[in-house]
Amino acid sequence: MSSKNLLESILSALSNEVRAEVLKLISMEGPLSFTAIMEKLEMNPKSDAGKFGYHLRMLNDAELIKSDESSGKYYLTLLGQDVANFIYGVEDAVRRKKGDMLVRTSSLTIESFERKKIVDALMREASVPRKLAESISKEAEDRLKKLQVRYLTAALIREFINSILLEKGLEEYRHALTRLGQPVYDVTTTIKNTAFRDFPSPEKVHMLAGDAVLEEYMLLKVLPRTIADAHLCGAIHLNNANYWALRPADIQHDLRPFLDGALSADGTGLSLPTHSCPKSFTGALYTLNSLLRSTSTLVSNSQSVGFFNIFLAPFIKDLDDATVKSNLRDFLYNLNSCVNIGGNIGIAINAELEIPRFLESVKAVGPNGKSDQYSDYYDESLRLLRLFLDVMREPDGSSKPLINPAIFLKVRKKSLVTDKASDCFESAYKLAEAWGSVYFVNQMLPWQQSNVFYNANLSRIDSEWKDWESGTMRVGSMDNVTLNLPRIAYEANGDDDRLIERLRELLELAREALSIKKQILEERVHIDRLLPLYKEEFEGNNYFRLSDSPGIISYVGLPEAVKYHTGFDLSDSDEALKLSTLIIDTMDGYTRQMLPSTRLLTSSITFEPSAQRLTQLDVASGYLKSKDSQAYTEHSNLPLTTAIPLRKRLHIEEFFQQKTRGGHLFDLRLEEPFPTYEVLSNNTRRILETAAIGLFTFTRDYSYCSRCRNIIYGFHEKCPKCGYDGNRIMLYTKTYGKIKPSKTWSTNDRQFALNTQRFTL
Ligand SMILES: [Zn+2]
Repeated sequence: MSSKNLLESILSALSNEVRAEVLKLISMEGPLSFTAIMEKLEMNPKSDAGKFGYHLRMLNDAELIKSDESSGKYYLTLLGQDVANFIYGVEDAVRRKKGDMLVRTSSLTIESFERKKIVDALMREASVPRKLAESISKEAEDRLKKLQVRYLTAALIREFINSILLEKGLEEYRHALTRLGQPVYDVTTTIKNTAFRDFPSPEKVHMLAGDAVLEEYMLLKVLPRTIADAHLCGAIHLNNANYWALRPADIQHDLRPFLDGALSADGTGLSLPTHSCPKSFTGALYTLNSLLRSTSTLVSNSQSVGFFNIFLAPFIKDLDDATVKSNLRDFLYNLNSCVNIGGNIGIAINAELEIPRFLESVKAVGPNGKSDQYSDYYDESLRLLRLFLDVMREPDGSSKPLINPAIFLKVRKKSLVTDKASDCFESAYKLAEAWGSVYFVNQMLPWQQSNVFYNANLSRIDSEWKDWESGTMRVGSMDNVTLNLPRIAYEANGDDDRLIERLRELLELAREALSIKKQILEERVHIDRLLPLYKEEFEGNNYFRLSDSPGIISYVGLPEAVKYHTGFDLSDSDEALKLSTLIIDTMDGYTRQMLPSTRLLTSSITFEPSAQRLTQLDVASGYLKSKDSQAYTEHSNLPLTTAIPLRKRLHIEEFFQQKTRGGHLFDLRLEEPFPTYEVLSNNTRRILETAAIGLFTFTRDYSYCSRCRNIIYGFHEKCPKCGYDGNRIMLYTKTYGKIKPSKTWSTNDRQFALNTQRFTL
């Protein structure tokens, strides 16, 4: 057809209202069948069919629609879509001419302005009485008409209503009608700057935009004003604010129900392939991997696997060492790729050097179901642990380390006095020497109770709560509220009583915030069904034991607070030490008072670096003079940037660790040349035998050149082997207790990595 003829047939096709409606209908709803179009246009399928067929033929002849032969449905051609858009434009112009206002709504359609919708929204969202809602909506309509806004959106109408509410002093209603979201500029900035954060990806942009909404939602809707304000002004810091209203911070898994087929890794069993009861070691490791993968969206920080080498020991009984190692290697590669995809969810493995007494006679889950008991697998558990540590020490194919999982090696009495575990110890020291991924847990200290688990975010739980199972398995920290201790000291202005009084007030706020979080999680699990695995029933309880899960109250700036209050340094003054003891005793005492109804734990660990933010807010509030004040001490009770002898640090941290039952770490960052594993061995034993340190680790700095695939110990900007000095050199160290490569360092991480004190043994 010539273009002139085509234009004529298009114009004649448009000269009828039914045909115009057909075009609009298909453009809105997608391809439709003959009868579906008739139904939607409310035509009679019998009497109107002939006439309707004629209309479709005309549209078809004008090349505006085509029918799909296989489905029989009609769809728009590209030309047809253009013409449909043209019709919308004409309709808009007509409406504008008539004085109607058009609104772009949040569901991406265009509607005529209807005042009634404002009345409904005011009543539904903010419970505004009808009469008031009517008068506000009328006022809004009048004002909008006068303004003659060309591009009227639902968001703009809402802003308009909100300002009317404010003018009338109806602030509470305005509060309920607030729209959460980000300015356009901020979203653009997020897109442009995400490359400089951990694991940049389009998904990360999406996450950050969502974070902004949900963090505001928490502060506006979930928490009472007093708590939200305390967070905003920097008296406290709510960790994981973006997910506060959605999920707990971490979880301690129990592998057994997944190994014996009682539970599926994804909860419902509908989303992931499952072995039910794995019959082999590879099957068991697959089950663990899919559990970690599916739970990675159900926690904010980390997941931990308890008794890893004991619960998996029955599966390696008939396998030789080479096979076990090869299976473990596959497992670790899968695990690390899963962790990197999921973002920042850390994985912790809690491993045992002996079978704890309470597990000895517990029935073991193995490839043939439940049989024997765990004490029958002592040798296998040690063999598995040794092979696991050895595989962890091997670099990957391009010579860099596997940084996940973090391994928490629990040392009980028997393993130290017999020789049975000496191979495992040796492998652990070699791993500590190579990459630093081992954390030593002193399980012999009385305050560690019969069982203790640490997680990858360094939270800690023990069996003082009920028993080893209810206290430490299938529970997790709900979240962490950090107290700004220096702020308390500034406010007390030298008065001891005021200091403690203010501390108690903030503890009370933290408790309230955590108890609200518990109620919310209850709702998310049971009513909103957002965390399917947690709801699954197992042995008369839900998989995630929410009522046994602790809330964490942590702190930053202990040395700074004490220095301000007493004028002395914590490391060399009895008076300063006495005050810091009083502060931590008050915190620990407060959490103990809540027993047995509420499980709260004091911790020296924050789940996200918070000191920088709190320091800046103290500057902004005028408590601190200098704009470039150094951030408060975090993750430690003594300043990390000033040189204090190791012996002294150990002695002081000893006291604080037993009072911080929700989390702590003594991080021995060591200078190069790094001690040999034999020296690490001697020092580990000495610390275990003579100091009351529950958790410690050795940290080594190293650099990796991805051009020549070379590891160089210490921090190097230039590769000594190939001379390369660009951005493919990556630095590794522990920042805030976790191994992180420099490409994922935040500003806080960088400062921590470069400025904190290193020791020599
Ligand atoms: Zn190189």
